[in-house]
Amino acid sequence: LPVLAIVGRPNVGKSALVNRILGRREAVVEDTPGVTRDRVTYKAEWNERRFSLVDTGGWEPDAKGIDASVAAQAEVAVDLADAVLFVVDANVGATSTDEHVVRMLRQTKKPVILVANKVDDVRQEAEAAALWGLGLGEPWPVSALHGRGVADLLDHVLSVLPEVSAVAKEEVGGPRRVAIIGRPNVGKSSLLNKAAGEERVVVNDLAGTTRDPVDEQVEIAGRVWRFVDTAGIRRRVNLAQGADFYASLRTSAALEKAEVAVVVLDVTEPISVQDLRIIELVLESGRALVLAFNKWDLLDDERRGLLEREIEQDLAHVSWAPRVNISAKTGRHLEKLVPALETALDSWDTRIPTGKFNALLAELTAEHPHPLRGGKQPRILFGTQASSRPPTFVLFTTGFLDPQYRRFITRRLREIFGFEGTPITVNMRVRE
Ligand code: GDP
Repeated sequence: LPVLAIVGRPNVGKSALVNRILGRREAVVEDTPGVTRDRVTYKAEWNERRFSLVDTGGWEPDAKGIDASVAAQAEVAVDLADAVLFVVDANVGATSTDEHVVRMLRQTKKPVILVANKVDDVRQEAEAAALWGLGLGEPWPVSALHGRGVADLLDHVLSVLPEVSAVAKEEVGGPRRVAIIGRPNVGKSSLLNKAAGEERVVVNDLAGTTRDPVDEQVEIAGRVWRFVDTAGIRRRVNLAQGADFYASLRTSAALEKAEVAVVVLDVTEPISVQDLRIIELVLESGRALVLAFNKWDLLDDERRGLLEREIEQDLAHVSWAPRVNISAKTGRHLEKLVPALETALDSWDTRIPTGKFNALLAELTAEHPHPLRGGKQPRILFGTQASSRPPTFVLFTTGFLDPQYRRFITRRLREIFGFEGTPITVNMRVRE
C-alpha cells in the first residue's frame, strides 16, 4: 500500500486529522504531552482506495525538545512515505520550528501537501492563505475537528499519492525487500555491514530523497536483496527523550516497505518486552519473519540454558519462524541467513489450490468434527485461500466455529504445509 505520513508540531491537530481520515475515534489516543504509542501505522481508505497512514505525532516532547522531535518525524516521513501531509495551525501561523522542517521538506521530490488546520469557518481562510509564504504550494484549509475541507484534501491526496507504494511497484519480480529490525544495540548495523561486506553492489536513491539513500541493494551469494531503511539503521539520533517512539516509528514504517523482517535479538540479554513488542509489530504487519539470535560468540553455557528456556516460554507463538544463531562480529553462520529468508518468503508467497484445500478440510472435519452445540453442529461448507503474502484462508460455515476449533484447523494447516516463516490467518464467514 502507498504510505501517507502526517507531520507537524505538537497541538496542530495531527491526531484529530488522523481520526478524521480514519473515520473513527478509537484509533488515536488524545494528545497528552510525553505520551508515547506503539501503534503508528493505520490502514485508511478513501473513495475505495486504500493506503497506510503513518502518524508521526505519537511523541509530544517538552518545549525544549520540539525542534528535534519534529525534525525526527519529518525525517522518517520523508524517507519512508510516498507522500507527506505537513500540518500547520492556521491560527498560529508558521513558527520557527515549522520553517526549519519546511527547509527539509522542500528538498524531497515526494509530494508534500501543506494542511492549514483549525480553519473552522470561512473567515479564517485568509490566515490559511498566508501560509503560501512557506513555499510548499497551496495550503489546504481544513478543520480536522469539524471535518470541514477534509474531503477535498483527501481527494487531492489521492491525486498525488501513487497507486502502489513506489518501492513495491518497481519491485515486482525484482529484489526481495528485507527489514532488519530490533532494539538498539542488538547488532543491526553490524549485521548489515557484515552481510553486505564488500559485495555492496548498488547504492541507490530510488525512493526519491535527495539526502542519504534510504534502502540498499546488496548481492549475497549471487542474489540481490533490498534492505529497506538502512539509513534508519545507520543513523544515530540523539534525542533526549522520545528515542523509543522514534525507533518504533522507523520500525513500523520499514515494515510497511518490507516483505520479510529479520528481528535481531541479543543473546547476552534476556528476551525483553521490547523484543516481543517488535515481533508483535511484524505479526500485525503480516510480513514474513526470521529470528536472528546475534552475539552468539559471547554466549556461555549458563546463559545458553536460560536462553533456551526463554525461547520456549516467550517465543512459542512464533515457533514457526526460522531461527539463525549468528555473530555479526565474527561472521559465524551468517550464510544461514539467506536460506532462512528464502524459506520465509516462499511460505509467504504460497498459494494452496482450492481443490486441495477443500479435500484437506474434508479430511480434517471427518477426523475431528466440530463439537455439537445446542444439538447443532456448525459445518464448514467450503474454504478457499483468499490471498497470499501472507496466506489468508476463509472458511464458509453454517455457524460460528469455536476459537478452539479454528486453532485446530490453523495448527493442522501448519503441520501439513509448514508455512515456515510466515504468519497465516484463518477467517470465517457464517452463512445463516
Ligand atoms: P544496532 O543498534 O542494533 O545497530 O547495534 P550495533 O550494530 O551498533 O551493535 C551494538 C554493539 O554490539 C556494537 O558495539 C557492536 O560492535 C556489538 N556487536 C554487534 N554484533 C555483535 C556480535 O555478534 N558479537 C559481539 N561480541 N558484539 C557485537
